[in-house]
Amino acid sequence: MKFDFDRKRSSIDTLLIRRIVAAVVLALLVAGCSTAEDASGNGTFVQESESVANPSATPSAIQKPEKSETPTETSPTPESIPTLKLKPPPSTLTPIPTSTQIPTPTNTATATIRPSPTKAGQCSDRIPSDDLLTLVTREYAISADYVPGDLVSLANYLPTQVTRGYDSQLRRIAVPSLLQMIADMQRDGLAPEIISGYRSYSAQAVAWRKWLEREPDRAAIISVSPGHSEHQLGTTVDFGSPELAAIVGGDDVEFHTYFYKTREGEWLEKHAHEYGFTLSYPLEAFEITGFYYEPWHYRYIGVDLASELKTKGVSLTQHLLEIYPPPCDQ
Ligand SMILES: [Zn+2]
Repeated sequence: MKFDFDRKRSSIDTLLIRRIVAAVVLALLVAGCSTAEDASGNGTFVQESESVANPSATPSAIQKPEKSETPTETSPTPESIPTLKLKPPPSTLTPIPTSTQIPTPTNTATATIRPSPTKAGQCSDRIPSDDLLTLVTREYAISADYVPGDLVSLANYLPTQVTRGYDSQLRRIAVPSLLQMIADMQRDGLAPEIISGYRSYSAQAVAWRKWLEREPDRAAIISVSPGHSEHQLGTTVDFGSPELAAIVGGDDVEFHTYFYKTREGEWLEKHAHEYGFTLSYPLEAFEITGFYYEPWHYRYIGVDLASELKTKGVSLTQHLLEIYPPPCDQ
């Protein structure tokens, strides 16, 4: 599917209608990271299921998240979703709560390097370069063979309070900024959590099959097929907040649209770009991104571009679609 940007800009009325429609659809959805909660980034399928929003939940109101509508239910049903089991960090690793010990990263992010102006052939053959700007959407996939070559385990640098015991991985280039951001959040009295980082193609495939079986009519909304998740890039993080469960009103809630109401969510919305992270799926950007609002899902693209997008109020997807040719054939 392609999005018509010219048409989108053509009329304020049209925009309002679309926003209303987006809000309606949003309310009909169970909040959930369509990419994040669909599979763990560790190939263990541990984080994936327990953090998925309950797809069978029915919202009681059709409003934008800013309104005080009844939150959509996100507590997974015990019979359908495996119980969350936190994994202790590897005994050989010592969590380091500060950002002072970082693996010799060269944070000279190559975000300024532009993708190839020519198509890369079939999306299923596309192997991302290291330029941080690979476009991954429901339309444009990456190869099943792509695995970032510089993944590091965040458990090596962050305490269990932050990693929640998950063995989340991230590309080395994004780690220094992430650690600094978390340290600054903690300094401000916050308690950010990392729910998911890199997710393999196979892990996403498992989640995708699961949703096709459980919710065949809504799988394409709730989840995304393998190859189409930004988490496979290894530069995307799903954040959590200890406040979320209480705000949502359920137990064991990891992903919910109401993350934006938590102090951690508010802070990230204001400051994540200062550390090079961008909100991939903003509110009301569904028509462009193909994903519903995911206030917890941030992707590292470098400070310059993240700040530019923040100022302009556009998503990375929109930015890339507007200035570059389609990255690959369908
Ligand atoms: Zn995510």
